[in-house]
Amino acid sequence: MNNVLEGKMGRLGIMGGTFDPIHYGHLVAAEMARVEFHLDKVLFIPTGNPPHKIGRDVSAAELRYEMVERAIQDNPAFELSALEIKRNGPSYTVDTLRVLRRTWPDYELYFITGSDALLEIFSWRDAEEVLTLIQFIGAARPGFDASDFLLKVQEDNPETQGRIHSLEVPALAISSTDIRTRVGRGEPIRYLLPEPVRLFIQQRGLYSQEELSHHD
Ligand code: ATP
Ligand code: MG
Repeated sequence: MNNVLEGKMGRLGIMGGTFDPIHYGHLVAAEMARVEFHLDKVLFIPTGNPPHKIGRDVSAAELRYEMVERAIQDNPAFELSALEIKRNGPSYTVDTLRVLRRTWPDYELYFITGSDALLEIFSWRDAEEVLTLIQFIGAARPGFDASDFLLKVQEDNPETQGRIHSLEVPALAISSTDIRTRVGRGEPIRYLLPEPVRLFIQQRGLYSQEELSHHD
């Protein structure tokens, strides 16, 4: 907790995601992480062309960006970054983190993720390097218990010890996949995500053809 000893001026949370669409699961994880870890702000970074989601049609980055913008507008500690969507081609989290590390040299960086995404970290390119650049906050997500995995990672990689943290959040079994499916079926999504985002989806007719496409 002692930033002076760490030589860092502040703490920045990073919430990466496809956000197709953003929902209360993302927002509550970011907000709980902000308070629990005394983060100065949380930067939301929508993915450009996510390498691991090829196979499903991901909505245009501009639309996903706009939805995040609407979702976070009432929280002064939340900010939006176009870092990944501006980049051409697939973006790897490690590349983004290298850029952020250079951009915020005086900040301790915390990557906020759900437990499902944390389980995938070691499938990332240059996973070990990622763990030296930033710390991790894994938010419990229903159906994914990452605690045994986290213990093993830290046992196997001593340099990661104390850099991977667990966060208890009120569990929300909300996913973007479920929201898209609901819209496709004409089922309600109100109260699963902020109202300005729900209205945007409605106005733009997003996800209405969703049942025709493949779900993972
Ligand atoms: P999809 O169903 O399309 O995969 P998603 O709901 O998983 O969407 P992503 O954009 O893939 O959302 O997730 C971005 C980040 O937010 C990931 O780290 C993910 O684990 C986390 N996250 C998503 N939903 C929740 C939730 N309900 N609780 C905690 N973390 C979540
Ligand atoms: Mg996901």
